[in-house]
Amino acid sequence: MNKCKRCLLAELADKDNVYAHVQKVRALLSKEEKATQEKYHERLSTCLKCDNLLEATCQKCGCYVEIRALKIDSDCPIKKW
Ligand code: SF4
Repeated sequence: MNKCKRCLLAELADKDNVYAHVQKVRALLSKEEKATQEKYHERLSTCLKCDNLLEATCQKCGCYVEIRALKIDSDCPIKKW
């Protein structure tokens, strides 16, 4: 696996299995549960600039940010989004 300090699963070299899980979680959420695409990308953009992002994982909560950002009622553990 490539070591990247600030990246998303979509960018990791051996991302496919984990990134497929992101797609599966997204598919399981209802429209009401899901953040809009705009909101989702806005959240990930904030994570990409955050020092707590390490190999697609938030060091504050231990979540893959691409999964955490999917749900509309989810939030950043330190309230950046
Ligand atoms: S969820 Fe919050 S603390 Fe974690 S990486 Fe994203 S912006 Fe940073």
